[in-house]
Formats: sequence, structure tokens, C-alpha cells
Amino acid sequence: MSTLAFAQPSAPTVKVDYELLRDEILQDLQAAVSVGQLDMVFLIMHGAMMAEGFDDCEGDLLQRVRPIVGPDCAIGVLLDLHCNITDAMLDNASIIMACREYPHVDFEERGTELFDQIHAVARGEIKPKTAQFRIPMLSMFHTPREPMRSFVDRAQACEGARGRDSSGSSENSDSSTSVLQVSLAHGFPWSDFAGAGASVLVTTDDDPAGAAALAEQLGHEFFALRDQGTEPSQVIDAALDTAAKVLIETPGGTVVMSDGSDNAGGGAASDSTFLIRACLERGLTDVAIGLLWDPVVVDMAFAAGEGAILDMRIGGKAGPMSGDPLDLKVKVLKLTEGKKHQLWTAEQLVHLGRTALLESAGVQIVVNDLRQQPMHPSAFLEAGCDPWSKSLVIVKSSQHFYANFEPQAAAVIYCDAPGSMNGNVFERPYQHITRPIWPLDEIAL
Ligand SMILES: [Zn+2]
Repeated sequence: MSTLAFAQPSAPTVKVDYELLRDEILQDLQAAVSVGQLDMVFLIMHGAMMAEGFDDCEGDLLQRVRPIVGPDCAIGVLLDLHCNITDAMLDNASIIMACREYPHVDFEERGTELFDQIHAVARGEIKPKTAQFRIPMLSMFHTPREPMRSFVDRAQACEGARGRDSSGSSENSDSSTSVLQVSLAHGFPWSDFAGAGASVLVTTDDDPAGAAALAEQLGHEFFALRDQGTEPSQVIDAALDTAAKVLIETPGGTVVMSDGSDNAGGGAASDSTFLIRACLERGLTDVAIGLLWDPVVVDMAFAAGEGAILDMRIGGKAGPMSGDPLDLKVKVLKLTEGKKHQLWTAEQLVHLGRTALLESAGVQIVVNDLRQQPMHPSAFLEAGCDPWSKSLVIVKSSQHFYANFEPQAAAVIYCDAPGSMNGNVFERPYQHITRPIWPLDEIAL
């Protein structure tokens, strides 16, 4: 049996909604146990979910799963690498594994690895022992770039895994190759709770000392990279200046600019207007921006129809972090309904919601009514806008866009616009995180 639920991040989940989902899973488990049909448990969760009254939803769920399935049942947990791994999670799972890549292009690969290992646990073939090395730091780490790229590869190379691959081989009994998995948990810096932060998780086959030693070693390496994990971002004017320079050097190219401060995937409203306003004020006329979440505007555009020219108040509705709304005369270029766009891989298609492609003074805005980030050019294409026909494409995504936009981009520029996910950690009103923590505090591991 399986339960599948997903929501875009925002404020903590409503208490009754979390409890409803949690209890549905628990009741299914109880039913399976009572008829003797449970072999193992495989949970795919984010790892930083918060709900009203529950700062650690994954820990809360696992604490309730374990007593139902018993102490010997294999429990595998696959997490987003932006997870805050707590003791409650570790104490109640057999193996916890995070994806390796940001953008998260490897969920399927990691899920397969974990499934094989949990299956081996259930058969009694391996005895996972996990060690965690906590790293008090809050940041984002882009894995396609050096030095993170080499570090992630080094961590992966530590996984000897006793041949626990798709071939099912388990020939190698050398204790030096008993590392089942290494996970670099980046932490989720927007969770304001005591357990927020990074860590390294190492699971070995019955070698707790080896797990602890490797977790500590990799933890120190991870911490040493803390200043170099993210591509530097630029304030709006500097970012637009850089884009203009690139376009002079690369005529006909398309610059892709990240407006990560308004990324729905991290909890932002995705309706901020700062960059649209800046483009209009500069008189830029070959620009596309998306996805802007504004259901009211979508309703109005659908009522007016394609080809309509009308005055609209766009964006800036969710709150002060979204900036002021823009009052624009726009043309409704295209309306769509029922389209899907791609996430990281071609198999991962999700609904776009209703879309309205609007144009004002040469700036095209893809507005939709289902809040989400664009991870693939199809988010624009399906809405009727070819991003590669523009000189500048602004994506409201922090890093997930990178895998599928970067290969065709003249350059990728990270813009440090205002907004609720702005990168300035010092301006976040943390109240509950554990101090000291870098970069708020200078620390030594
Ligand atoms: Zn993530």
C-alpha cells in the first residue's frame, strides 16, 4: 500500500492536515501488520517538514511507525538533501539516505539504492549501523560546481556497499568496503527550529566505529567548504549589468537569471515584482519571466480572452516580501489549461495549472494559478513562450532550474533580489535555531 501527498512549501503545515496524513499512513501500516503482510517500510519524505505543533514531522512519524512494525522491521527513509536529520529520525529508521545532487536529479537512483539495501536488511543480509556528524552551518550548496562537485564525488566513492548494487552481488567481505551509504545532509536554512543544520550520515554494515570515523572525516571536509558552496549572487542592478555584458559577447544568446529569493520550492510566494519592475524601468524588451503565481490575474486574463489588451494589477499580493504590485497595460498572448511541465527528468511531469502569457512593453510574464517553480524550459514552452527566443529569461527558482536550463544558456546569473527567500541569512528572524551556528556565528569544529 502507499500514500502519496505533496505540497509546495510555505508556512508550517496545518495541524489537522498533517495529523490526517500521518494517521492514514499509520492506519495502513497497522492494517498490513495485522494481516501479516508487511515485509518492510520505505518512506520518501523531505526531511525538514514542519507542522503546527510538530517541528520535526519526519521524526514524529517515524516514532509512531516503529512501535507498529516492531523493532526488527526494516525501515528505509529517502530524504531531500535539504533535510535536518534529528535523533528521532535516526533512532527509528534502519537506513536514512539523502539524494546527492542539488538540483535533485538523482532521486530515482538513490531510491533504487536504498530499496535494495532495505531489502537486504529485511532478509537479514546486512546490519546497518549509522553515525551522524552534525555540522552547525546554514547555507546552500550547489553540487554541479567545484569544489562541491569533487566533494560529492569523493563521498560517493566511499560507498563500498558490499556490491549491494542492482546485480545483487555481495561478494566483497572486506571490512574496508562495508560502507553502505554516505549522505551529505545540507540542512534546510529556512526551518526555524532547534534541529536545523547540516550533517554527514554514514551507514556501514555492522561497523559503528567505521561509520563514526568516516562521518567525522567527511564532516570536517564539508565544513571546510562552507564559504564556497554557492555561486555568488548579485543585486538586481549588478545582475542586469552582467547579463547585458554577456549578451554583447554572445549575440543571439539567452541569459538565464535565477530569482531564487522568490522560489516557491523554498516557501516563497512566487509573486514578487522586483525583477519585472527593474526590467521595465531599464526598457528591456526581450525578456521572459516565470512562473508568477497570481490566480486573480489568471482569472481576469481568461475572462478577457487571448488577444485582449487591458490594465492589470500584477503580482505583489501575497505580502510585503513580494514587493508592490505592478499596474501594467498588458496584452494576453496565450491562455492554457491542463498543460504539464517537466521537473528534473522527462518522466517527472506535473500540472502547470492555468497559465496566462502576458506581455507588457516587450516583457513577457508567464502567470499561473498553481504555485510552483520552473525547473525546465517546458514551464515556459507549454505556456506559449519560447525562452530561447529571448535574450533574458528570469526563473523563480533557486537551483533546480539549473539542470535543464544551463546547457542552453549563454550564462547563468544568480540574482540576489529582495524577497522572502533572500540569501542574507543575517536578516532572517530566527528564534529557535541552535546557536552557535555558521554563518551567524564564527565557529570551529
Ligand atoms: Zn531540496
